Amino acid sequence: QRIEWRRLKFAQSLTKDGVSHLITANIGTPDDLQAVIDNGADGIGLFRSEFLYMNTDDWPTEDQQFEAYRSVVAKLSDQPVVVRTMDIGGDKGLPYLQLPNEMNPFMGYRAIRISLTRKDIFRTQLRALIRASAFGNLWIMFPMIATLAEFRQAKQVYLEERQRLIDQGTSVGQIKIGIMVEVPAAAVLADQFAKEVDFMSIGTNDLIGYTMAADRTNERVSYLYQPYNPAILRLIKQVIDACHQEGKVAAMCGEMAGDQIAVPILVGMGLDEFSMSATSILKTRALFRRLDSTKMAELAQKAVEAETNDDVIRLVDETVF
Ligand code: PEP
Ligand code: MG
Repeated sequence: QRIEWRRLKFAQSLTKDGVSHLITANIGTPDDLQAVIDNGADGIGLFRSEFLYMNTDDWPTEDQQFEAYRSVVAKLSDQPVVVRTMDIGGDKGLPYLQLPNEMNPFMGYRAIRISLTRKDIFRTQLRALIRASAFGNLWIMFPMIATLAEFRQAKQVYLEERQRLIDQGTSVGQIKIGIMVEVPAAAVLADQFAKEVDFMSIGTNDLIGYTMAADRTNERVSYLYQPYNPAILRLIKQVIDACHQEGKVAAMCGEMAGDQIAVPILVGMGLDEFSMSATSILKTRALFRRLDSTKMAELAQKAVEAETNDDVIRLVDETVF
């Protein structure tokens, strides 16, 4: 089996009936790049930028960030590299950023909420990203977007910095601007977001937790963390359909994108890009080759009409495995 996966390293990510998708990688630092290349990824669907901010004793400079982003996009040449802006807060603290103690850190001051109140830090990151965009195919993604107003504000700051750099004679690339869909409110209003963003990437790790109001690390409620619950599947389908309605890219970068039960359903829903840990890529590419997209569309329809998480697992097992 592993030998078969190896052979797929240079293959396209196609279903049995020849429908093409992207299988991309999630990375946490530029050091993860080798595994991405070794496993034949079609690009990077989530470059978590937190590493730049953690393990240091002060904010990273624009040049430090630029070098990190440039090294990654340059290595992947024309393949897309989606960089997520700072997702600090929740469980990720910083020694040099005094955050108040919160009753609910996961519903508190984190990610884009920090970036929009600390625009100095946000602008530095955006300038580094825009400069790096000249060296490859760089996309920017904002985490934890809950409202259109947040997206518009973030995009406005991006446009200002982009213009400033252009005025200074800096070369900049074409950049796609998108959001992570991990707050249920953004999934519910996906049709409105789809008109304004270039792409969406569904962050199922947080989306499932917020939708089911259950923390998977809390043993007593972890039974509620149900990726295949039709409530979750309907939200995902709604996001994908909204993107396609507006001709935008629908991606997923949560754990579900590389989950062998979820993948057949997501293929059936027409998800464009599946971003996962590098070690899941070849296995998923092999699974794609066994899936007929028309049959998977029927499966997806049955799945969203099912009643429980377990019913969906059975459905996939009967249809695919
Ligand atoms: C997610 O929430 O699904 C996600 C990819 O973000 P993170 O795991 O970094 O919170
Ligand atoms: Mg998240």
